[in-house]
Amino acid sequence: MELLHQRKEEVRRKHIRLHVEGALTARDKVGVQDFVLLDAYTSESAFLDNLRKRFSENLIYTYIGTLLVSVNPYQELGIYTLSQMELYQGVNFFELPPHVYAIADNAYRMMCSELNNHFILISGESGAGKTEASKKILQYFAVTCPMTESLQIARDRLLFSNPVLEAFGNAKTLRNDNSSRFGKYMDIQFDFKGIPVGGHIISYLIEKSRVVYQNQGERNFHIFYQLLEGGEEELLAYLGLERDPQLYKYLSQGRCAKESSVNDKNDWKTVSNAFSVIDFTKDDLENLFGIIASVLHLGNICFEESQQGCASVPDTHEIKWIAKLLGVDPWVLLEALTHRKIEAKTEEVICPLTLELSAYARDAMAKAVYGRTFTWLVNKINSSLVNKDFTGKTVIGLLDIYGFEVFDKNGFEQFCINYCNEKLQQLLIERTLKAEQAEYEMEGIEWEPIQYFNNKIICDLVEERHKGIISILDEECVRPGPATDLSFLERLEEKVGKHAHFETRKLAGPRGRKIGWMEFRLFHYAGEVTYCARGFLEKNNDLLYRHLKEVLCRSKNRILKECFLVAELENRRRAPTVGTQFKNSLSSLLEILISKEPSYIRCIKPNESKEPSKFDDFLIRHQVKYLGLMEHLRVRRAGFAYRRKYEHFLQRYKSLCPDTWPHWHGPPEEGVERLIKYIGYKPEEYKLGRTKIFIRFPRTLFATEDAFEL
Ligand code: ATP
Ligand code: MG
Repeated sequence: MELLHQRKEEVRRKHIRLHVEGALTARDKVGVQDFVLLDAYTSESAFLDNLRKRFSENLIYTYIGTLLVSVNPYQELGIYTLSQMELYQGVNFFELPPHVYAIADNAYRMMCSELNNHFILISGESGAGKTEASKKILQYFAVTCPMTESLQIARDRLLFSNPVLEAFGNAKTLRNDNSSRFGKYMDIQFDFKGIPVGGHIISYLIEKSRVVYQNQGERNFHIFYQLLEGGEEELLAYLGLERDPQLYKYLSQGRCAKESSVNDKNDWKTVSNAFSVIDFTKDDLENLFGIIASVLHLGNICFEESQQGCASVPDTHEIKWIAKLLGVDPWVLLEALTHRKIEAKTEEVICPLTLELSAYARDAMAKAVYGRTFTWLVNKINSSLVNKDFTGKTVIGLLDIYGFEVFDKNGFEQFCINYCNEKLQQLLIERTLKAEQAEYEMEGIEWEPIQYFNNKIICDLVEERHKGIISILDEECVRPGPATDLSFLERLEEKVGKHAHFETRKLAGPRGRKIGWMEFRLFHYAGEVTYCARGFLEKNNDLLYRHLKEVLCRSKNRILKECFLVAELENRRRAPTVGTQFKNSLSSLLEILISKEPSYIRCIKPNESKEPSKFDDFLIRHQVKYLGLMEHLRVRRAGFAYRRKYEHFLQRYKSLCPDTWPHWHGPPEEGVERLIKYIGYKPEEYKLGRTKIFIRFPRTLFATEDAFEL
């Protein structure tokens, strides 16, 4: 312990010295650890230079005030060891080099001392390192928080929920071999002693389309391959599966079912072990893998066209397996896949489906089954994480969510994801920019108002009731008559055509770059994105024919029974559309977040080829822009980097001044004034508010810390 303390102190002193001087001298070598210190430069190029310098020295973390910027190193750097964790424990935020552990520790300390709730928002594009960062934070808590024997199980469940969710919710994509295809918010609950006692997970918008289709070079969700590679012989025989993933249509479209960068066999072991830790019974697993196998069998069903143009299934091998595994009648299932029930006024009419519609029904069934099973899985994990014995818990929420996406072709998914990012930007504005200025006002501090773009106008454009894009889309989805993606686009032109942040080909303004026939463009806070309206209606509707729903509601598979409730059949009201569901879930997410203290981690992907030490300027510049980093820096620089209550400031530094040491009996504000005069703060370095001292630059604080040490 003594040794550790000594080491901590050594690193701390070395760091502080390097930093205080470093702000001025050593910066050429390793850059500055806080962008706020880039005194003379506020340009994007200077920002990039600093990031590059640090990256080339394997320093992947840099602060902007209290926000952490992280660049994915694509290599193991040995910076997540046990001794590193110990080093960061209980140390003031700016006393050690930037690290994800510092963010975690800071949130934890504040939570413990102020008994309030926190969240850490991790954003960035695919492959930037969000999920890795969130795992590091979770591990940090698991290792460093106090623990009792009886609560170890709660901690283990928190940790082991990860591999399970990743198996079912992550996949290899072109951008990332382990890409999360869902958004995740996880609350870690702590008791009053700071022991992690439980948790709760919310998932957002799992990419169901991947179950039935993958682009070239991409795979389906990991679990399918893990099951085939690692599953025991008896299990596969029970499920009617062969080992070779190439035999399954849903697994082989991307032509990379066997991927050397992913070790499915080992991962299967990890997942199986995790299942036992989070309390899944044998029966749960039988039902669960029954569903997973059914999806694979579904994908292999082929349809043939009869002379009348109707679909039939020549080989019912797969149907029989699905019927067995899901506990449904094979003939009813066969009929539901090839026919559609249409409700006339008094009776039901059964019409045969065309080849195309049958394939559509099959895929819709696979997507619905997988999507709802995923939700079931999250709920099941939650029931194992819940801890009813503790009341008055405080929480730290981890949000690992898709960053802003701009591809060559952007569809409904990008529209939802970018809308989500608009909402999170709103949160940042409310919690950071507005709150910052409100605090100056409250403390009576003079400040120059900072110009920032308030993106509420774009959020409204997307989500306003009756007027916003989602409402217009929903209206098209229920409109009687032949609504199409094109008619949706026309409605948009009619209703939001004049909006300053909207454009179509017909309405292209002076800014207008080339825009396609079926496209519309939004001017997001992070830049413009052109969306193709094709598929919006279908994806928003996410239709599962009633006939198939009936089959699933009658399934004897215990999990499916919970996923498809008979009540759903009786309820004739339309379920909310995907867009509306997403909008509602985002609005509850924001409610969860707005009451908590924020920390931010912005992850950057250094190159497209997943290589270490390669810093692609163009790619990174782009991310710096849409992560809003320059704007954040501007706000930070214009304002005061740090603030402390007079009492706390005095308590920490009183030994630096003979007037305040060992006790100061007057008002703390006066004590602080004496103290800073004595240690020589310059007038431009600080301001005194009603209850707090505001310090403009971190280096002032570092210098004070250093003096305090020596
Ligand atoms: P997505 O949005 O696709 O889920 P992501 O931002 O969650 O992407 P990660 O899965 O966290 O990205 O990271 C991608 C890969 O980059 C990891 O599998 C790992 O190989 C590497 N990586 C990320 N962060 C680190 C790190 N701190 N140290 C070493 N390697 C890392
Ligand atoms: Mg991820």
